[in-house]
Amino acid sequence: MTVHQIELTGINKYYGAYHALRDIDLKIRKGAFVALVGPSGCGKSTLLRSLAGLETISSGDLVIAGAKMNGVPPRKRDLAMVFQSYALYPHMTVEQNLTYSLRIRGIDKAEAKRKAEEVAATTGLSHLLGRYPRELSGGQRQRVAMSRAIIRNPKAFLFDEPLSNLDAALRVHMRKEIRALHDRLKATSVYVTHDQIEAMTMADHVVVMRQGIIEQQGAPLDLYDRPVNKFVAGFIGSPAMNFVPASSGSDGKSLLLEFDEPQTIPFMKPVKAGQPLLVGIRPEHFELAGDADAMLRLPVGAVETTGASSYITTATQPELVIVLNNRAAIRSGEVIGLCFDPSHLHLFDQQTEIRLG
Ligand code: ADP
Repeated sequence: MTVHQIELTGINKYYGAYHALRDIDLKIRKGAFVALVGPSGCGKSTLLRSLAGLETISSGDLVIAGAKMNGVPPRKRDLAMVFQSYALYPHMTVEQNLTYSLRIRGIDKAEAKRKAEEVAATTGLSHLLGRYPRELSGGQRQRVAMSRAIIRNPKAFLFDEPLSNLDAALRVHMRKEIRALHDRLKATSVYVTHDQIEAMTMADHVVVMRQGIIEQQGAPLDLYDRPVNKFVAGFIGSPAMNFVPASSGSDGKSLLLEFDEPQTIPFMKPVKAGQPLLVGIRPEHFELAGDADAMLRLPVGAVETTGASSYITTATQPELVIVLNNRAAIRSGEVIGLCFDPSHLHLFDQQTEIRLG
């Protein structure tokens, strides 16, 4: 039997007339790392804050470790929040920052100190216990913020965009560090981010939100392989999936891709003739092909090379982005042949933008 540490059922949240969360159903397994991801304003912070008790939900049920929590004040929910702003006490040392929450709960000084040392050893802060926050780097401050959450031994950790203040290299490092810590502590973690790479690399369950709705949730690669609609398809993956309007050929075995100069590609799955479609294909799923194997022949617009990869933008309407993992000797203005595995095509209804098949 799966044990759910957090169960949200039919959660709605209104700010006045504004419907910020719409019928949210989400079950979080004990020990899971769940990422809430979506564009700014989609409601992910509101959902996290509702979990923490910092927002009152308008309707629905919120259960943590088997107990109904609607209306229970934040400090009685036994959850720990980690923010991007760290929220450390500047006039306290690292050790005092760590022990503060224990001391106000009446734990004696020696025991609090022992716990601080134990947690500091886990998070690599042992040598910094006597320092003040201003004497720490961004990454170290972030570690103090996490240690302060860990020391309380909460039922779950709630992370609100904790890495957005850090530079790119440190972000990648802290991503791994937080995930490793999660694995060591076997904690339940809910992590809010607008960065799909962060969500995909850290979480074992990704929840994609838009306009207060959960559009799709599942294992990261399931979302990448089978996005339920155009929004999720375009949001997960970088660079984003390409979309081309299309219709099925009258023979039922081909698709007409409606570029400014239309092209026909073979396609075996049954599609209704004449149905307006949207074909999706990821930039990384193209390969260069010679005349004999080319499925598409497209004019090249821009070529950008990072050393490891080449990014090609086609001079078509709509344009395609193609990523080649080598230094292709391709120039703007030439026509290139491309092929791809047809199983990598994603098909959506052009009107509803919902996945077909
Ligand atoms: P996200 O974290 O995904 O960027 P939020 O959860 O912060 O989004 O906000 C979701 C929506 O709710 C936004 O449109 C935001 O403007 C609105 N909102 C958030 N907090 C309040 C508030 N206190 N009063 C009114 N509207 C709010």
